[in-house]
Amino acid sequence: MRILRFGDRLPSSEECGCGFEHDRTLKEVIIGPLRELLEYVLEQEVEEPFAIFYDKVTYEVAGKFVQKILKGGGFFVKGPTYEEAEEKSQRVKGFKTIVGVGGGTVIDVAKYAAFKSGATFISIPTSPSHDGIASPTVSLFSGRKRISKRTRPPIISLIDPSILSNAPRFLKASGFGDLIAKIVSLKDWQLGRDELGEPYCKTAESFILKSLRLIVEALEIHDAFEKIERLAEGLVYSGVAMMLVGSSRPASGSEHLISHYLDMNLKRRVPHGIQCALGALPMALHHERYNENWWKGEYDWMKIKILMERAGIPLTLKDAEIPEDLMVQAMVEAWKIRPNRYTILHKRKLDPIEARKLLIDVQLI
Ligand SMILES: [Zn+2]
Ligand SMILES: [Zn+2]
Repeated sequence: MRILRFGDRLPSSEECGCGFEHDRTLKEVIIGPLRELLEYVLEQEVEEPFAIFYDKVTYEVAGKFVQKILKGGGFFVKGPTYEEAEEKSQRVKGFKTIVGVGGGTVIDVAKYAAFKSGATFISIPTSPSHDGIASPTVSLFSGRKRISKRTRPPIISLIDPSILSNAPRFLKASGFGDLIAKIVSLKDWQLGRDELGEPYCKTAESFILKSLRLIVEALEIHDAFEKIERLAEGLVYSGVAMMLVGSSRPASGSEHLISHYLDMNLKRRVPHGIQCALGALPMALHHERYNENWWKGEYDWMKIKILMERAGIPLTLKDAEIPEDLMVQAMVEAWKIRPNRYTILHKRKLDPIEARKLLIDVQLI
């Protein structure tokens, strides 16, 4: 068992001096075999009774086992909707700790329900598909609209690499993609700092840089177990960066806006991190052309492409089954989703011709 400690080991707002009220809810991330992790939880001062959230798939993968060991009440999550999360928040009254066992949907619904009902939250990811494992935000649908809300991160996250390695390949690729996207999102945040005087947190930055180092390493390793462990750790650090500043700002820039636009308009959804990586590619080149503060040498769109290839992410829109016209539209319009979150798409807006040219230049079409 390996324990990553956060909580008051993280610098306070005063120590950091960034002006953000550092949220330090996440105390520990524990990596090891699930049984040991659960026994560890039972030894801590975590209040019972437990409510265990899962869906059809994650019940079989780990939910059933978690419920047995923690002797909790079971809650079946139907879908990633706001309505579902609201309904669950009402039904968990009386439960002191909510345990989310699953991928994005279950984790987000459980996180929201814990926040709304005042329960403690523990996350047990079953797939390493995105960085919501330890983040304070949830992303839920209401109709076709995607709603992002600030809630509270888990106090403990339990990671069993053998469970994560069994996740489908495209979900692992998505996790890598969500972290590759930070190459762009961090530079978008710095644009806000440099051009609009937005507050900026060096501690959060250091966690994003750590995530990036971990995935670059992970994608060079052949051992599947070690690879997945580094990926999971990277996803946790990205969540910690968001937790510290209380928003997704460090980890979600122009490439995430493009992904949100696709979410709202694609008939068949593509995993979050895969969309983000596909958005990061043209955004990297757009930055390179119009942002003097872009990475010098360390990262560029070609490096992103190499990382994507190693992660098993499709390298063309066709392979990803994203219509070319929709991607162009996304690059032109996505800034309107969050007009106040300054990114390269706000600094230098694209017209359809320029957008298409970027896609050609990075060989996505
Ligand atoms: Zn993301
Ligand atoms: Zn700070």
